[in-house]
Amino acid sequence: MNTAPEQSEIASAGLTEVTFYRGRVALHAILKALGVGAGDEVIVQAFTCVAVPEAVIASGAKPVYADIETDGYNLAPEQLASRMTARTKAIVVQHTFGVPAQIQQIMAIADAAGVPVIEDCCHALASRVDGRLLGAFGVAAFYSFEWGKQLVAGLGGSAVTGDPALLSRLFELQKTHRTPPLVKRVQLELQHAAFTVLSRPEWYWRVRAVFHLLSKGGVAAGNFHKAEDFSQPSADFAWSMPPKAVRRVRRKSKNLEAICRHSDEVVQQYQTKITTPALTHPSMAASSETCFARYPLRAANKDELLRKAREQRVELAGWYQTVVHPLDGDALGQVGYEPSSCPNAEQRSREIISLPTNRRVREEHIDRAAEFLNACAQPGADQTTGAKHAA
Ligand SMILES: *Cc1c(COP(=O)(O)O)cnc(C)c1O
Repeated sequence: MNTAPEQSEIASAGLTEVTFYRGRVALHAILKALGVGAGDEVIVQAFTCVAVPEAVIASGAKPVYADIETDGYNLAPEQLASRMTARTKAIVVQHTFGVPAQIQQIMAIADAAGVPVIEDCCHALASRVDGRLLGAFGVAAFYSFEWGKQLVAGLGGSAVTGDPALLSRLFELQKTHRTPPLVKRVQLELQHAAFTVLSRPEWYWRVRAVFHLLSKGGVAAGNFHKAEDFSQPSADFAWSMPPKAVRRVRRKSKNLEAICRHSDEVVQQYQTKITTPALTHPSMAASSETCFARYPLRAANKDELLRKAREQRVELAGWYQTVVHPLDGDALGQVGYEPSSCPNAEQRSREIISLPTNRRVREEHIDRAAEFLNACAQPGADQTTGAKHAA
């Protein structure tokens, strides 16, 4: 059986992992295993990527968007109640950038309504709340091992749960999935090799440009479903994670502690060296331990910063560029998002920038990024107070 990468963290949290082709395929499997389908609603946060609603739509259910925290990146618990209906069959809680959502408050609301919570841990491999691993709060969680994540397999994902009945249904579903065709597997291996060699902060913008070009031409497997028509699920939903990628994640997951230690050190340096009051640092609850997948900042002149960062070859990402990245305009309607329905998420997508925390990031990259941001970040019209540094 194609079982999990042995992440001792996950095992010691009492969870078992089942691999799938991608994170979104794992989410789709969890929804099916929970019996979610046509006529049902699934609450997701706005300020997410299209992979999440795509999985919900592929299950037959309808995504319903809830807004995020006024000053944060995650689902606002007080927004949840207003989005719940008799049709709500699941809530997806995303721990964006690895920053823990207010999971205990959300669990209390969901439990009172008898609605299962699925944690989106694609950015949160090792963050904790009150000492408990994220992914262990909801009935199930899912991970992604795609290019931008903390553990990179090529493409890959997994579902985890501590519920034996759900676990056996996930294994049943896994059996119905097929290994991707050989051409696809070869393409993914080449892509993984290229990323391994090329993923350096100073090459970020060039690699990104080439990757977008290749995925447009269909030569590289992009992060997003090309079709604008989400009523036809992509072929991805029938595929499994290739064994080679499973072995790779299993091997790399042994480095998880070192990955987080490095991320912590990088983040500490960002926090001391990025001193401009024009940027807002994330604020964190004292009860949480955060292993950042990337370090998020809020800027008033986001577009200008991205343009200049590209010129100066400083790695700086702008996702999520829209509330359901990368969709815009009419395409947002196709995944069920109503314009202006989640103002905090819309605001956040206009101001978010993020810096890398992975093991390729060295002191020289941190210094260049800090110097660049301290020089180029402009305060917004309403920004008179200093930057909020994390505790
Ligand atoms: C990457 C990601 C996904 C989807 O993962 P895939 O493996 O690309 O399907 C879902 N949610 C979040 C928050 C992600 O970052």
